[in-house]
Amino acid sequence: MFKAFLIKYAEIGLKGNNRYIFENALRDRIKDALNSLGEYEVGKEQGRIFVECPEVYDYEETVSALKKVFGISSICPVAVIESSEWEPLTKGVGDYVEMMYPDRNFTFKVEAKRADKNYQYTSPEICIEMGAYLLKRFPELKVDVHEPSVRVTVEVRTKCYVYSIIIPGLGGMPVGCNGKAMLLLSGGIDSPVAGYMLSKRGVSIAATYFHAPPYTSDRAKQKVVDLAGKISKYTGPVKLFVVNFTDIQLYIYDQCPHEELTIIMRRYMMKIAERLAEQESCLGMITGESLGQVASQTMQGLAATNEVCKMPVYRPLIAFDKKDIVEIAKEIDTFETSIQPFEDCCTIFVAKHPVTKPSLKVIKRSEEKLEEKINEMIETALSTVEIINVK
Ligand code: ATP
Ligand code: MG
Repeated sequence: MFKAFLIKYAEIGLKGNNRYIFENALRDRIKDALNSLGEYEVGKEQGRIFVECPEVYDYEETVSALKKVFGISSICPVAVIESSEWEPLTKGVGDYVEMMYPDRNFTFKVEAKRADKNYQYTSPEICIEMGAYLLKRFPELKVDVHEPSVRVTVEVRTKCYVYSIIIPGLGGMPVGCNGKAMLLLSGGIDSPVAGYMLSKRGVSIAATYFHAPPYTSDRAKQKVVDLAGKISKYTGPVKLFVVNFTDIQLYIYDQCPHEELTIIMRRYMMKIAERLAEQESCLGMITGESLGQVASQTMQGLAATNEVCKMPVYRPLIAFDKKDIVEIAKEIDTFETSIQPFEDCCTIFVAKHPVTKPSLKVIKRSEEKLEEKINEMIETALSTVEIINVK
């Protein structure tokens, strides 16, 4: 019975002159989301977006796709009444109520909007007349204008639209209206969630994964590709850079104190990721770091890793408890993939007693031992990077 969806958005309505950029981005993201499901018409009209469905379509599948599009505040499945003549309109709305609500023991209110200001009734008149029609046709119904259990909304245009179901959308802003950032994507629980969160604010995502074969297996890499695939359902396509980090890691392991290894390694990860981010015209980087979660994520540890890059580093999980991160990971379906037991490159070289309060001075002195080869190794890592386009 639903031939279309009315898509409402909140935040992007607030953006003044930039509004059309946001609306176009949302329209395009909705088109992307529905593209593989059939021939939907997606159009903008007066502060909302209409999705007209093909003759045959799967309702659940369509709603589920729309529920993954950032920027949508609500999704209203609408029935379309072909004529705006009063009689077919009232009958159409009545038929809608009859079909939707076999048990009509509830309170309701009619809400109305009209596009044509010359229509025979004003909006308040439509509400009153339509309410009266429904009460006459269904005497079990009761009107409650303050807290109705059902709001029947009627929009009068050349055709008419009626709806009463409001499915909450994800909120946020449409991807692509807020620049691009480089996500440091590991196989863990946190970084996919961090990427999802920035993307929810309209940011497009590229990703870098540091791979250390043979210490990390192909399956560990596949896990990261799978995670990129999972978040791409929300973020759109993700260009994934796989950096071979083995030589750099071994070199650090040979030259530097083992308890500083994690911090020094993370500093080189940030440096390399920043180079890739610049290449990709990113305006920032994203990590899944969370204060105090592990030894390298103390205030001192974060200060030390942050020091190597000029770009802003976004750490959306910084103040999150693990259980709250896990909750989001479950919601976005990355959790089960993240907990697959494949080593990531940090866990293999990890020291028994890593420094938790690294001093930048000490770290920099240790890094002097890398001077001979490290720059060349970074260039090699960059020139041998593997690119995987994940959709
Ligand atoms: P995650 O669950 O995201 O792996 P974590 O709690 O295991 O995080 P760390 O291993 O200290 O924490 O990593 C902190 C952040 O550094 C990660 O969230 C990720 O953004 C980045 N990172 C760590 N390892 C890698 C890697 N091999 N490739 C790319 N980024 C990484
Ligand atoms: Mg990790």
